[in-house]
Amino acid sequence: MATGKLYDDRPYETEFSAEVLEVKKAEEPLCWNLVLDQTLFFPEEGGQSPDRGEIVIDSVTYEVVDVSIQDEIITHKIRGTEEKAPAGERAEGRIYWQHRYSNMQNHTGEHIFSGLVHAQKGYDNVGFHLSDRVVTMDYNGPLTEEEILEVTREANRVIARNLPVNCAYPTEEELSDLEYRSKKEISGKVRIVTIPGVDVCACCAPHVRSTAEVGLLMVVGAQNYKGGTRLSILCGMRAVADYQLKQNVLSLTGRNLSTSWENIPEAVDKLKRERDNFRYQTAALSGKLLEAEAKELPPGENACLFTACTDRNVLIKVVDQMKQQYTGLFVIFSTAEGLYDPKEARAFSYVGASVSGDSRRLSECLKAEFGAKGGGKPQMVQGSVFASETELRKLIDTGLVSC
Ligand SMILES: [Zn+2]
Repeated sequence: MATGKLYDDRPYETEFSAEVLEVKKAEEPLCWNLVLDQTLFFPEEGGQSPDRGEIVIDSVTYEVVDVSIQDEIITHKIRGTEEKAPAGERAEGRIYWQHRYSNMQNHTGEHIFSGLVHAQKGYDNVGFHLSDRVVTMDYNGPLTEEEILEVTREANRVIARNLPVNCAYPTEEELSDLEYRSKKEISGKVRIVTIPGVDVCACCAPHVRSTAEVGLLMVVGAQNYKGGTRLSILCGMRAVADYQLKQNVLSLTGRNLSTSWENIPEAVDKLKRERDNFRYQTAALSGKLLEAEAKELPPGENACLFTACTDRNVLIKVVDQMKQQYTGLFVIFSTAEGLYDPKEARAFSYVGASVSGDSRRLSECLKAEFGAKGGGKPQMVQGSVFASETELRKLIDTGLVSC
């Protein structure tokens, strides 16, 4: 027997009473699959996640953790606190209203937006997802940034007009004369949701009764998707929460940059220019410092230098000059870009050379010890390595690497 869909006619009600038809143990611990003769719980259907809430049977409260529908039979997965099957002929259900209402607002918002897109561009919403965190719709055609902004403004005008949202099951005859959007071929009874002059769409989900209740609709994401467009929207309190969060981020960032939020892009541009300038200066200075430090080094067997200089030409030049003073190897380790203190760095690029031996031995050793990458000719090698200054110094200074 098909489960009675109380949410169809009574989307604003939260409590109901029903007859228990079937209780079966679910796979998960403490969980049972429950079938009732009727329910207010909207199941996962049409891209929308199910209602949440509680069901009480024989004075025991169970949490409703999932609701599904198959062949018109709705199954509630309920979780108790002990491994004892629910016993009782009646069930009292209560859905969590805030969660349900938010879904109603966002779903009706989707109908308004998709109806406008369909009227203006002829596109269909071919993929819809509504969960606690995201609302996305996939249109089978491209939308420009300006078109998205304009549809958003129009959708909010529709919201402000306080139009009715009517849900009904037309007869087959009425249906054959009706032009409506549909996400898939539907068989059986078709429920039609109408917003006069804006949208007519086949849909099984609960909706708010007037467009005004959607409150606010904002598009918060857009991307090209399978040749069309995937949009993320937020309606009602979700949109308000998002606005507040963004305002908070802007005001914090503005305070950090000592400017008002309108001037943040300009202030960030200025910071980027300053940073690029500093990088350039630091690179030039660290090159000079490297050359000075190299001159101070005593001759010997093996030696290495650590530097923030990332200019490859400078590194090669210094290695070339210094290698004459060493019977073994001379190596420079240069920190990855952006880190100016080699003591903190864990990633280096390296240049090493040997006059008398085969400097490829260095790359082999670094590869064996630290999984480094690189190689070269017997005269000079280059590469990159993930290790600390201490680890690398130990390897070079203790003569583990000898050519
Ligand atoms: Zn719908």
